[in-house]
Amino acid sequence: MVIDCKKIASSIEDEIKLEAGSLIPRLGAVVVGTNEGTMSYIRNIQKVGQRLGIEVELSTLQDGSDTSEVINLISNLATRVDGILIGKPLPESVCEDDVINSIPLSKDIDCLHPINLGRLFLNKPLFCPCTPSAVIEVLTRIGIKLRGKDVVIIGRSDIVGKPLAIMLMQRGVDATVTVVHTKTKDLPACTRDADILIVAAGRPRFVKAQMVKEGAVVIDVGINMENGKIVGDVDFGEVNKKASWITPVPGGVGIVTTRVLMRNVVKAAKLRK
Ligand code: NAD
Repeated sequence: MVIDCKKIASSIEDEIKLEAGSLIPRLGAVVVGTNEGTMSYIRNIQKVGQRLGIEVELSTLQDGSDTSEVINLISNLATRVDGILIGKPLPESVCEDDVINSIPLSKDIDCLHPINLGRLFLNKPLFCPCTPSAVIEVLTRIGIKLRGKDVVIIGRSDIVGKPLAIMLMQRGVDATVTVVHTKTKDLPACTRDADILIVAAGRPRFVKAQMVKEGAVVIDVGINMENGKIVGDVDFGEVNKKASWITPVPGGVGIVTTRVLMRNVVKAAKLRK
């Protein structure tokens, strides 16, 4: 069955409105250069923000700006916004580590700062990273129990695969997690064992039906452009016939991620008080 992520996104929006009450949360987005993917992500966040009464202030710097310009912008923005979002990828002229380290911990709504990631590791998070949280929201809101399930994640990036593995294996969530990547010996053998398969490989249509167990739950995190169309990391046409549940792309994990981000902005605004 195809998972209705629009419905999930809309329920999270309702919860955000209730949580925010009369508060006007403010998000500051920093973009360096003119990456089209980043700009469309921010435009989308602005639209959602408008609906939710969350102010989104976009600050752009020219391509070629250096690290200190970005850090100065962040410290200035931090005086008037609750949460800070950095458009990624940053250009090569900017040191990403230095930029991330300059985000105040209580405004790090994407959970990028090493201290916030450390807190997540220790199961004492201030904010949970948005895409991994969106994956868990999708699973729990369709009623999937994670305790004791065999979960396989394809991809070990710092923003998706790694933090998601940590979150799923925490005491209380209790999934059995396997992370596979480019050097995995027999990837299809691993993925065929999965009750829940989460795909964040950044390779269009990488997962085929023969890599999936009959009745598995398949969550596709991938967003790839192919001939002007957005496609996921899963061959949806094939895998849909085998999976018990599957997320579509577009209109899947991505739209839940933006709502989770906004929920983190509200949380940050409450820390301000
Ligand atoms: P990344 O490129 O940093 O990481 C990809 C990971 O997949 C790497 O760890 C790599 O080892 C693994 N991988 C790549 N090719 C593989 C292969 N052939 N076999 C096994 N493992 C392989 O990407 P990322 O930032 O984690 O993003 C992954 C995908 O998710 C991208 O398509 C990205 O656009 C998308 N994404 C979506 C959201 C969302 O909200 N839906 C958010 C962030 C990223």
